[in-house]
Amino acid sequence: MLLLSGPNMGGNELKYVTECIETGWVSSVGSYVDKFEKLSAEFAGTSFAVATSSGTTALHTCLVLLGVTPNDLVIAPNITFIATCNSIKYTGAGLVLIDADENDWQMDLNLLQQFLETETEQRNDVCYHIKTGKRIPVIMPVHVLGNICDMDRLVALANEHHLIVLEDSTEALGSYYKGRHAGSFGVLGTFSYNGNKIITTGGGGMIITNDETLAKKAKHLTTQAKSDSFEYIHDEIGYNYRLVNVAAAMGVAQMEQLPGFLKRKKEIIQFYKDQLQGVGDIQFQQVSDDVNPNWWLPTIKTEKQKDVLKLLNDAKMQSRPFWVPMNQLRMFKEDIYYHQNDRSDFIYRHCLSIPCSTNISNEELMEVSQKIKEAF
Ligand SMILES: *Cc1c(COP(=O)(O)O)cnc(C)c1O
Repeated sequence: MLLLSGPNMGGNELKYVTECIETGWVSSVGSYVDKFEKLSAEFAGTSFAVATSSGTTALHTCLVLLGVTPNDLVIAPNITFIATCNSIKYTGAGLVLIDADENDWQMDLNLLQQFLETETEQRNDVCYHIKTGKRIPVIMPVHVLGNICDMDRLVALANEHHLIVLEDSTEALGSYYKGRHAGSFGVLGTFSYNGNKIITTGGGGMIITNDETLAKKAKHLTTQAKSDSFEYIHDEIGYNYRLVNVAAAMGVAQMEQLPGFLKRKKEIIQFYKDQLQGVGDIQFQQVSDDVNPNWWLPTIKTEKQKDVLKLLNDAKMQSRPFWVPMNQLRMFKEDIYYHQNDRSDFIYRHCLSIPCSTNISNEELMEVSQKIKEAF
């Protein structure tokens, strides 16, 4: 089976993990956690990074840090992986799901602006949803597939309406907007190291920020909020959300290879574009000139989505449709979905992601391309 986006463990992973096992430093503290955090902050251009057990727990921690409560609503895109919405729901808050832009598949900023101008009001520098009276403290943009929306406009809208920006940049390690790294625009940003992401620790995540107080609180909250280095004194309800040293060791080895992975992802998307642009109605995700994306998961849009999916998966070339839009999931039926003509559904029914592991060969890329062409 040719994996959609599998791990590439071609570097020092075994060496560093072996060192952890031989020295016994496998668990909740160790030098690789510190190293991985330092490398991540440096790479993203932020002052601080705090490792977590997953991208989902990174997002949940951030929402807790920002004081989100069950009386609040949080704005998120309707097209995203479910972890975005789950992390919001863990706080008890409700969702405001904004429909997607039909070309770049990110949150539609025209719709966002319309929502903020017509459905919310500002009182004492706090944003409230008029109909429910609920507070809206946070907006959570997601950099879908490593692409990035017009962040200048999003941040301006957020500032104007007193929303704190928390970036779900879990898919965007190595993506830049106007030369700045994803995750560094908001008060807090996040990464995921799940097995299908651009680098992996098996499972893991990271919080990035320039705010020292938030970084310290993040470390505290993710490590059971222990306030004494000797005695078991805890000063609030914390979480066991830390990343273990043996996973961080893999992370350090993966970070060493990240520039090579990013180069390969760019070659992969270029290969597919050379082969498939102009074939039938195939279209690729639109990317603005301001964005240098990581091309994490090459995805095409076509009327023949179902046929292409079947052809590829029958040939053991793992391919996936886009996520089911959040408003269509049973658990989020009561939440707010703001849209004009439900573009999310159209995108869901037309887009599919195609094999793009960084260790895929050019011969395999050619085989996938030829298989897709058969559908046309
Ligand atoms: C991968 C991902 C996450 C986090 O996933 P984990 O598996 O918990 O690391 C969150 N949001 C989005 C959009 C993702 O793609």
